[in-house]
Amino acid sequence: MGKVKTIKKTAEKKVPLTGMMENVMKQFDKAADRINLHPNIKKILSITNNEILVNFPVKMDNGDVEIFTGYRVQHNGALGPYKGGLRYHPTVDLDAARALAMWMTWKSSLAGLPYGGGKGGIKIDPTKYSQSELERITRRFTFALADNIGPEHDIPAPDVNTNSQTMAWIADTYMSTRPPAQRSANQHVVTGKPDGSGGLEGRDRATGFGVYLTIKFWAEKKGIDLNGKKYIVQGFGNVGYWASHFLEKDGAKLVGVQDAFGSIQNQKGISVEDLFNYSSATKSIVGFANSNAVEADEFFAIDCDICIPAALGNQITKENAPKIKAKLIAEGANGPTNVEGENILLERDITIIPDILCNSGGVIGSYFEWLQNRSGEVWHLEEVMDKLENKLKGSFNKVFDYAVREDIDMRTAAFCIAIERIERAYVQRGIFP
Ligand code: GLU
Repeated sequence: MGKVKTIKKTAEKKVPLTGMMENVMKQFDKAADRINLHPNIKKILSITNNEILVNFPVKMDNGDVEIFTGYRVQHNGALGPYKGGLRYHPTVDLDAARALAMWMTWKSSLAGLPYGGGKGGIKIDPTKYSQSELERITRRFTFALADNIGPEHDIPAPDVNTNSQTMAWIADTYMSTRPPAQRSANQHVVTGKPDGSGGLEGRDRATGFGVYLTIKFWAEKKGIDLNGKKYIVQGFGNVGYWASHFLEKDGAKLVGVQDAFGSIQNQKGISVEDLFNYSSATKSIVGFANSNAVEADEFFAIDCDICIPAALGNQITKENAPKIKAKLIAEGANGPTNVEGENILLERDITIIPDILCNSGGVIGSYFEWLQNRSGEVWHLEEVMDKLENKLKGSFNKVFDYAVREDIDMRTAAFCIAIERIERAYVQRGIFP
């Protein structure tokens, strides 16, 4: 008989957190420690409630079948139904969905909404598929998610590379698979729908408008005039474009833009509407007249007063944070600044308007749409924009005042406020059973 191999039991290793999860957990821990969050509640909030992964087949235009992987992570539902977007991007995986779902929990809580946090999407490069393939992918994903989403349970919305058309397909598929008498009562299973199909007038601009408003509120607090101030935008999608649109109206000057294909700059100013028309036609900002190309690594070093990362996570890092010229970072994207990058910015006295405040206009707009669908009301653009401005002003002031009072950065202040609200709900209700 051969020798019996002894199996050495190694100590259980904690898997190191990477990417966006590492960032969101460090941000959470910093705030939780500061408010002495009860360890039991900290345990609950450090982990997600539900994680749904679905593999589903879809027929392609050429008759072949392709298998796709979709995710929906529901982080915490203490304050209400899970809420958050669905993104279509090659970087979507369980870890990304977890981190993004956590940010949604804090974002909804900070905004005072009756929602928890969720996020999901499909690991896919949507530019590689035809419109009819994207429709079938979206509908089959909705079918695969089945009752894991629902108007009073988990309400998706647009995110990176998804839009009102995507939401219309989801709503239609979800409603079509309900019993006839329940169909129209399920329209609010998603928000961000087209405005002819239960959507909110102005939901398209809500996130970018909110980004602009938080910059404006900050400038007012500091006694700064936005007229003539220079800004750069990373990502010229829905958020980047609308934020720029409103900033330009206040006389601020767009001097640099980056998208997935390249970067451009012009210190004399880039016309927001001309660039929008150009990029809508060519699908990129690259090659826009009256601008010079910039190397990708030099984008954040462009001379400006305000920097708006409005694309993906982990963009401002220890490599580029030392080169940033802006005095204000307004986070249109979720998680654009990693912890190392943030530490450098804070040391350099650069203010960050954190994502969970800066881009919360989107989910606030979603809440308005959801309320509108539930009550059968129709609100018009001016009313929507006024309500959004009031709500965001309240959130901004709360965070700004907390940060000043406690002498901390705005992100930590925003997290403290968000976590305290959820803690209150747990203290009041206790843990079942
Ligand atoms: N995807 C957006 C966000 O990250 C909107 C979410 C929503 O409206 O539910 O905030």
